[in-house]
Amino acid sequence: MTHPPHSRPEMPCAEFVERVTDYLEDSLQVDDRARLEEHLGECTACQLYLGQLRQTLTLAGQLVQDDVSPAMHDELLTVFTRWRQER
Ligand SMILES: [Zn+2]
Repeated sequence: MTHPPHSRPEMPCAEFVERVTDYLEDSLQVDDRARLEEHLGECTACQLYLGQLRQTLTLAGQLVQDDVSPAMHDELLTVFTRWRQER
């Protein structure tokens, strides 16, 4: 997966995945949020991932206050990785 070059450092998908829960909790710095949204605008895989994550959180009731549990995080990463491998 490649992205066109930007003046700002590119956000890899792995970083998106790491930060997306903070994004959903609206706890990112403005710059980080902008970079994340920029990546989201270019990356179909992460758009899908965000959709799946939102769906999962909706099913789970609501976003937990502190953080997504490590187990849930791993599970989402697995889903995400599997989806990319199936492309
Ligand atoms: Zn991505």
